[in-house]
Amino acid sequence: MIRAIRGMRDLLPPETERWQQVELAARELFRRYGYQELRLPLLERTELFARSIGAETDIVAKEMYTFTDRHGDSVTLRPEATAQVVRAFLEHGLAKAPGVKKYFLIGPMFRYERPQKGRYRQFHQINCEALGSDAPELDAEVILLLLDILREVGLGQVKLLLNSLGCPGCQVDFKAELKLFLFDREGWCPDCERRRAVNALRVFDCKSAHCQGLLQGAPALVDFLCPDCARHYARIKELLGRFQVDFEEQPRLVRGLDYYTRTTFEVTAAGLGAQDAVAGGGRYNGLIRELGGPDLPGIGFAIGQERLMEVLPPTAAGARRELLFLAYVGEAARDRALALLYELRQQGLAALMDFDHRSLKSQMSLADRLQAAAAVILGESELEEGVAQVKWLADSRQERLPLAELAGSLAARLRAPA
Ligand code: AMP
Repeated sequence: MIRAIRGMRDLLPPETERWQQVELAARELFRRYGYQELRLPLLERTELFARSIGAETDIVAKEMYTFTDRHGDSVTLRPEATAQVVRAFLEHGLAKAPGVKKYFLIGPMFRYERPQKGRYRQFHQINCEALGSDAPELDAEVILLLLDILREVGLGQVKLLLNSLGCPGCQVDFKAELKLFLFDREGWCPDCERRRAVNALRVFDCKSAHCQGLLQGAPALVDFLCPDCARHYARIKELLGRFQVDFEEQPRLVRGLDYYTRTTFEVTAAGLGAQDAVAGGGRYNGLIRELGGPDLPGIGFAIGQERLMEVLPPTAAGARRELLFLAYVGEAARDRALALLYELRQQGLAALMDFDHRSLKSQMSLADRLQAAAAVILGESELEEGVAQVKWLADSRQERLPLAELAGSLAARLRAPA
């Protein structure tokens, strides 16, 4: 038997239905906040990610699915969405659109990480990107939107972590100070040994507990913010306070990608173990210019769908589907049921029937095993009288409904079950 690739999961029903509900809720909130959908290719030129995410990041250094296509070009399965959103934004001249350019994108991302609970090699994200404004009100709005989505899908108890990485100006002094600190201590892992020389900020991403221990007492970027960045950060905190959003300042939250400036944030949830970040995001004010565009700021977030599903409260077990099963006895009833099946579907109801000439008993058993809400039974006498027997399978209640108005009556009952 051929199995799926390690770290890549098949999503099956009923899980897929739950995913749809979550995506539907997210889409509705994006609509309210003025976002529009982008659907972009899974493959991009490798240089797009190498240039934007940063050569020393774990993603680019170790985790990308990169290969040479038949033409000899180096291509990469997208490990994240922001870089390609900016690529598409520039390629299609979207900077000319009025106001803040707000996009969302839902889909799979690929990173060659060590698979474990909450960490996969193909995982899915709900991404939000807002381009064209540096106003702290936008940062606060983006964070509120993220929390709204999480609340709407049923995740109430979360922790919001917040930090500011300042602008490249504030980072000059900070990086010098951080480098002194890093070179003052020995025993770093080989990766951090290299990072401390070439990209000191990336040491904060290290997953080794030993390096994290060595980082105790490291300087914090928030202490190096220039007056503009400090005002920006203070205003976000003030706005979050006004909207009664609890947050915890986390001076080490650098979030693993080189393009972040100013605000970074992460949302964690209890019950996820070591991989407890459900969502993360931040500002990327230099990225659009870095990718060859105008000097426009941007901010965004990504929700990890697998982790979100993991912490959502389970749906009620054994809930019956909004499905009708048509059962029949005899050839005339079979033909009428076939017509009825089509009529019900035209009226927006989900309906199935057996085509394989089973006995009534096994049709009824099938209806039950399919978790149908009701079996609609047609026999000779029902046809003569112009009615159908409807058996509600949750409580075996039975009623006779006129065939002529069947779709309407069933729809009304399914929407408001007695
Ligand atoms: P990032 O794109 O690294 O900022 O991650 C944003 C969110 O995506 C994280 O908070 C996780 O919820 C999710 N995520 C990132 N990497 C993985 C992975 N390998 N497997 C599952 N979810 C992931």
